[in-house]
Formats: sequence, structure tokens, C-alpha cells
Amino acid sequence: MLPSNSFSLSTIGIIHSCYKEKFGIPKQPGLVDGDTARLELIPPYNRLDTLDGLNEFSHIWIHFIFHACIKEGWKAKVRPPRLGGNKKLGVFATRATHRPNPIGLSVVKIGRIYQEGKKVFIDLHGADLLDGTPVVDIKPYLPYADNITDAKGGFAPQPTQTRSVRFSDIAKYQCDSYQNLHNKDISTLIKQIIEQDPRPAYLSNQVDREHGIKLWDVNVRWCARSDHFEILRIEHE
Ligand code: SAH
Repeated sequence: MLPSNSFSLSTIGIIHSCYKEKFGIPKQPGLVDGDTARLELIPPYNRLDTLDGLNEFSHIWIHFIFHACIKEGWKAKVRPPRLGGNKKLGVFATRATHRPNPIGLSVVKIGRIYQEGKKVFIDLHGADLLDGTPVVDIKPYLPYADNITDAKGGFAPQPTQTRSVRFSDIAKYQCDSYQNLHNKDISTLIKQIIEQDPRPAYLSNQVDREHGIKLWDVNVRWCARSDHFEILRIEHE
């Protein structure tokens, strides 16, 4: 008998993340190292015993659903942003989000594992995940098997080149106030996100155009100058 060619998965957890929209999310995990997200296990998996032993590991693989782009379907050939949007490659040769099965895979550093009432959480560092992302599985990262030091990186051998980020006086003041109020290092987070240049390829030559990125409960207003990025101000949503 042929194996079934369709399977159903159930969500085991939900991501609570600082990234409230797709624009601005780093292209891969680990590019931003702050405390950006936490994973909440949902019933019936919201039990600490499902995680017994995980605190011996530093990183996990997260298998998740690209839930915010399911409706758009998949394409056989896609334009990786890393190639400036000029060249198309096969979907299975990329980490594009529009896939036949909209499954994402991220390796993420874990922090505290804890329970609050009936809720069970894992703190995540450097996750590249949208707020509300459904998680279908997690597995510990095994360095001896998963860390392949002589692997080839195809069209993306290194992270994107970064440019310096400068804060206006008002933005600096607003970040300091946010940090004092919420105990979150928002200036480092903003710097690490913007220095990756989140702009789509077709805008990457434009300067002085204002952009906004929604992080937690604020909208970070910024623009590209000729040789650096400038954080203009922070607006509360
Ligand atoms: N590390 C993952 C993701 C790579 S694509 C993988 O390789 O499978 C990275 C992009 O996924 C981010 O820039 C973000 O815009 C997008 N993304 C993250 N969570 C998403 C979600 N829940 N739905 C749709 N897109 C998402």
C-alpha cells in the first residue's frame, strides 16, 4: 500500500514575539540576539514534563507554520532577497516562505523554561518569528550532528553586509525612556534589525524615504541615508 500523501499536524505552541508584522523580521534566526520572543505550549502540551531534560541544551529547532502567507500559495521559482530580487531560484533551493507546505525551520537559543499558572513558556533569543506563529514541533539542537563546519552556503554564504545605525537625539531619548519603563533593551534590538537593511530589494537604492517597523507596542520610524541608517523617532501604537 502506498503511504498517505497528506498528513495533518496539530499546533503544539504559539510564538509571542516583538515582531508584529513581517516587515523588519530578520531573514534568519540569530542575527538579532536579544530576548525577542517566547514560546507558549498550548493544551494538551502545556505541561513541564514534555520539556523535561531540555534545559540541558542551549538551542532548539523550531518547526513552525508560515501562517501569515498561506493564502498566497507557493511558487516553483522565487527571488531570494539576498540576490537583490534580480535572480530566480527553485523554491526548494531557498528558505522562502511561499512553499508547497508552509513549514519554517529555525534554530534558536533558549532561555528560561517556566510555568505561569496553567501556561508553560520557553524564552527564546534571536528568533526570526512573527507574533502569533503556530509551532508544530520542537527538537533539541545536537551539535555533533547539526553543526557541519565544512558545509557550503550556496547563494547566502554570509549574513548580509551591515551598515552603521545612528539614532537622532529624540530617538535616543525615547529608547532610554522605553528601556527604563519596560526593562527591554530596545536600542540594541533596533540597531541589530535595521543594520541588516530590511528594505525590499526594489527600494534599496532609495535614500531619505521614511519606513516604519512595528516592534512590541511601538512603531520605529527610520530611513536610509547615503552611508548609514538613521533612527528618526519612536511612535506609540
Ligand atoms: N528560519 C526560517 C525562516 C526563513 S524566511 C526558515 O528558514 O524556514 C524568514 C522570513 O520569514 C522573515 O523575514 C519573516 O518575514 C518571515 N516569517 C516569520 N514568521 C512568519 C510567519 N508566521 N508567517 C509568514 N512569514 C513569517
